[in-house]
Amino acid sequence: LNAASVLGTTATDFPTTHDKIQEVKDTPYFIDNKFLTSSTTRFIDLHDPATNNLVTRVPQNTEEELKAAVASAQKAFETWRTTSVFHRQQIMFKFVALIRENWDRLAASITLEQGKTFADAKGDVLRGLQVAEAACAAPELLKGEVLEVAKDMETRTYREPLGVVAAICPFNFPAMIPLWCIPIATVTGNTLILKPSERDPGAAMILAELAHKAGFPEGVVSVVHGAHDAVNFILDEPAIKAVSFVGGNKAGEYIFSKGSANGKRVQANLGAKNHAAVLPDCNKNQFLNAVVGAAFGAAGQRCMALSTLVLVGETKEWLPELAERAKALQVNGGFEDGADLGPVISPHSKQRIESLIASAETEGATILLDGRGFKPAKYPDGNWVAPTIIANVTPEMQCYKEEIFGPVLVCLNVDTLDEAIDLINANEYGNGVAIFTRSGPTAETFRRRIEAGQVGINVPIPVPLPMFSFTGNKRSVAGGGASTFYGRPGINFYTQQKTVTALWSSADAISKKADVAMPTHN
Ligand code: NAD
Repeated sequence: LNAASVLGTTATDFPTTHDKIQEVKDTPYFIDNKFLTSSTTRFIDLHDPATNNLVTRVPQNTEEELKAAVASAQKAFETWRTTSVFHRQQIMFKFVALIRENWDRLAASITLEQGKTFADAKGDVLRGLQVAEAACAAPELLKGEVLEVAKDMETRTYREPLGVVAAICPFNFPAMIPLWCIPIATVTGNTLILKPSERDPGAAMILAELAHKAGFPEGVVSVVHGAHDAVNFILDEPAIKAVSFVGGNKAGEYIFSKGSANGKRVQANLGAKNHAAVLPDCNKNQFLNAVVGAAFGAAGQRCMALSTLVLVGETKEWLPELAERAKALQVNGGFEDGADLGPVISPHSKQRIESLIASAETEGATILLDGRGFKPAKYPDGNWVAPTIIANVTPEMQCYKEEIFGPVLVCLNVDTLDEAIDLINANEYGNGVAIFTRSGPTAETFRRRIEAGQVGINVPIPVPLPMFSFTGNKRSVAGGGASTFYGRPGINFYTQQKTVTALWSSADAISKKADVAMPTHN
């Protein structure tokens, strides 16, 4: 059984349309470098969001299968942990090359299962690929420190792998988020069990195949499937030492507290409500294009989507022009030429987004651009919501309080920069934020006072590249953001520090009396 039975089997053979799949195959799971058929009777149907045609059935792995994944990862750890870092680096180089070779195939799987446009899906792959590229620097990143702390005495540090670790992924970046985890977890010497989103595991399955081809030994990378039960298994399994989670607050806060209570390291990136403050002195044209792209790209289903506009002073007069540009975007199947945004992930998500738009109307906001009811001619059965702009929103409204996670921009009016900063800081989330201005001092004041963890100055989606780290704040991260993804903090998360203090003296000890006081290093 091939992982890519519905997704193409070679780097040049993959679907390029939303046509109905004639022979639907179940998604396999991946243990010991083999694609296996689950013996479960519980499946989750996966539909193409552009058509609602069935693409595959995703198994919910049985407890025996999940245990087999742990046993395989534990066995692999015994040898993988002692493999030379240069060997691991070589495998990572090959993994990077294979991802590049299979870039279009990975992107096609994302467009089919998740719905985003093919061009945007290529970006999803790239941002993960860059983490794998950065992980190739493992020999440098894993170097320890040494200091001669006294005569004949030195202290050295080592970074050692933790053991079996797990990753639980969301639906919105089917390649990028698995690639936040696979490279860093494995290059540091751990073995990883990955649970992709049950809504679009195809890209993770292709990555598993590429990991095998790159030379990862059996058991170093495993992929299992399921939802709540699989997650609870991971949280309760003592052999799993660390959990990486990316997703919404409900699941993430539960996973962080349960995982931590069970003694595991947990890093958890959660939901968001990202604001942009717009100052009248900004470059208006750049601002309009940046916000339209960042609010509606990927149908607003990005954790760093710019979903909330804070219009300072006269900039509220620019809204009709903003609406014109948003209206010009093409909403269509992700494989179609010229498509700017695709459907949202599910009928339930569409209905939730539409009800939040309706609540804004009831609560007295102005629906400046209404994307409800839109259907592209070729795909009448997809989960469509076209770009929507809600003006005159206030912080008490439901559409402001909740993460909408759709192509909906909510707009609030304030008179001053101070008011904008206070409003943004009063929000419970703190993932990303942007300011549009030509003034350096204004940008500096904003940068200093704003609480969100990732700040863009004339940059709408300031996601840090992998030599930095993903640094959300407040309720956008669990545990106060102490453990962040990728970059040096990512290496730290997946490794335990060991410090060794050694005394190597050639002289014989002269005193016959033991010293019982703490040394004072005079
Ligand atoms: P989700 O929380 O529904 O699902 C994420 C994962 O958790 C999935 O693997 C799912 O199977 C599992 N899960 C869901 N509910 C669970 C429960 N009650 N118990 C145990 N496991 C559960 O998230 P999603 O809808 O797939 O993704 C969208 C969310 O992810 C948005 O809130 C978005 O902001 C967030 N996100 C955050 C970041 C970030 O870096 N901050 C990045 C991407 C997505």
